Amino acid sequence: MEYLKNEQEKAAMRWMDEAAKIAKRALCHKANCGTVIVQNGQIIGEGYNAPPLDKEENRRCDEEFGPGKPKYDRTCCMHAEWRAIMDVLKKNPDKIAGSKLYFTRVDSSGKIKKSGKPYCTVCSRMALDVGISKFLLWHKEGIGEYPTDEYDRLSYDYRQS
Ligand SMILES: [Zn+2]
Ligand SMILES: [Zn+2]
Repeated sequence: MEYLKNEQEKAAMRWMDEAAKIAKRALCHKANCGTVIVQNGQIIGEGYNAPPLDKEENRRCDEEFGPGKPKYDRTCCMHAEWRAIMDVLKKNPDKIAGSKLYFTRVDSSGKIKKSGKPYCTVCSRMALDVGISKFLLWHKEGIGEYPTDEYDRLSYDYRQS
């Protein structure tokens, strides 16, 4: 992973702002997340986290998942990243290879919340499997650009501290 600097960082901040705009539309009760996928200076897919089909009857946010449920399967909504990836596959399938994925959360006032370390292996595997080249997170140290295979490895290595 490398932290972006100068012009590269400025450009990434603009894409993060776009991801934040999408995050404001999130419907999950637990977090407001947004993702944009960019190829050749253009957004080719976007997504926010929400119940499937954005429908209230599909909401699982407020349920307690039993202790027998595997840990990796305890999140409620569609992840912003899944939706952005599917959005590209529906609208711009030929553009996904080599694209970059920008992910952020926003707080209740719509302000970007800095991200922690990579941990979601569902997102990391999907991004890797469809050929996305870089996964970007805005950490408190700056915007980190991860090669997708490294992002996947780090997500598997994640331990709650
Ligand atoms: Zn939810
Ligand atoms: Zn995820």
